[in-house]
Amino acid sequence: MSSTHIALALLAAKFVYPPAQATDWALVSLGAIAPDFDAGGGMITRPSQWIPGLPRLFGRALDGTTKLVSQATREIAGHRGPLHYPIIALGLWLAATFADLPWLRYIAFGYAAHILADALTRAGVPLWGPFSRRDVGFLPRSLRIRTGSATERLLGGVVWGYLGFSLYQVLRQGFNAQELLTNGSAKIQQLLARAMRYLQ
Ligand SMILES: [Zn+2]
Repeated sequence: MSSTHIALALLAAKFVYPPAQATDWALVSLGAIAPDFDAGGGMITRPSQWIPGLPRLFGRALDGTTKLVSQATREIAGHRGPLHYPIIALGLWLAATFADLPWLRYIAFGYAAHILADALTRAGVPLWGPFSRRDVGFLPRSLRIRTGSATERLLGGVVWGYLGFSLYQVLRQGFNAQELLTNGSAKIQQLLARAMRYLQ
C-alpha cells in the first residue's frame, strides 16, 4: 500500500538520510510510491492527490491518462517487474551524484526504500534483475508480510503514529499559547524551523 511505503521511507530517511527541507521529504515520498507505477493503480497513478493546486478538470484528465499508462506498463512489464529492479534505484542515485542533482537523490532514496520494503513481503522483489527475474524475499517465508494484510496496515499505522508523535513533541517543546497570540507568525516559523532541525 502506498501509505505504508511512504511511512517506511520517511522513517528510514529520518534515521539514515535526513532531508533538509519539507520539499525533500515530499521527494522521498514520491520516490517511495514510484516503483508501483507498474501496479496499474495506487497513489502514483493519481497525481492530482499529490500535486497541489491543479484545476479540477485538468487533474482528472491527468489522473485518467496516468492510470492508462500505468495499466499498459503493468500489461507489458508486469507488476514487480523491471520498475522493481534495485539497479534502477542505484542508477537514479548515481545519476543524482554525477549530475549533482540533490533532489533526485531524495527520490532515489525513497525508491530504494520501496524495493527494500517489498523485499519483506511474501511476493519478494526481482533483486538481481535484469540478470535474473527470480523474486527474492529477505525474511524467512513464515515472517514475510502479505501486501494489504492486517499486519501491513498495523505496521503502517504504528510508523505513522511514531512519525506524528515525534513531530508533535518537537512542536510542543516551543509551544506557548500567550506568546503565540502576541507574536503569531514569527513563532510559528520558529516552531517549524525547530521541527525541521529535529527531523534532520
Ligand atoms: Zn512495489
